Amino acid sequence: MKMTMYPDPILLEECSLVESVPDPTIISDMISIVNRVGGVGLAANQVGLSIGICVVNIPGPRGTKGPLVLVNPSYEFMDLDNMETSREHCLSLPFSGGVSVRRCLQIQVDYLDPQEMKHHSIVAEGFLARVLQHEIDHLQGITILQRTSKLQRNIAVKKMSKKLHKLGINRK
Ligand SMILES: [Zn+2]
Repeated sequence: MKMTMYPDPILLEECSLVESVPDPTIISDMISIVNRVGGVGLAANQVGLSIGICVVNIPGPRGTKGPLVLVNPSYEFMDLDNMETSREHCLSLPFSGGVSVRRCLQIQVDYLDPQEMKHHSIVAEGFLARVLQHEIDHLQGITILQRTSKLQRNIAVKKMSKKLHKLGINRK
């Protein structure tokens, strides 16, 4: 398993839904990667797999221990008055310097667990809500570049192109 980085087109594709209990080694590999790089979350298409699985490496709602593994997750805003703009970084956009993203800090998340494919519905708040939106967006083919202003997107893309050029990696 290897991290997929901007401008890999897999990051802009919607992942397919998982139909049956996923191979547990996929999940344990994703958890070890996110631990190794010290990230707060990881979506399957960030490691080259276009399937609806993400892991979030912070405590879940009501203090449940992380990492939280979500299969085919989706989210809905619960409180439109509870919006906040904050800087986000992304493991797949390491040279962007981060961009500001406006998120709802109270959301409902529906997902299946990876062991039994049972349906769960949770309410996530604050930082957990932000991280979950970031990861679930990934599975829809949406990165923080699509969630920020045109100005910040242009600056981030310029920074990344420069760095990739320096490293001898050409944009596809
Ligand atoms: Zn990301």
